[in-house]
Amino acid sequence: MTTIGLILCRIGLHRWGRKRGYDEYSSNVIEWEQRCERCGKKKRWVEVKRDRRR
Ligand SMILES: [Zn+2]
Repeated sequence: MTTIGLILCRIGLHRWGRKRGYDEYSSNVIEWEQRCERCGKKKRWVEVKRDRRR
C-alpha cells in the first residue's frame, strides 16, 4: 500500500474494484456494491430495473 494511494482515498478518490449486483427477482431494484481495493471502503447504491411490463 502506497502513501499516495492513502492520500487519494482520504480525499475520496478510491480505487473501486469490481462491482457486485444483488438482483432479487421479487424486487424492482438491483443493489450494487463496490469496494475500494486500497482501503476496503464499500459503497452501495440501488438501480431501478427497466420496466418489463408489456
Ligand atoms: Zn479507498
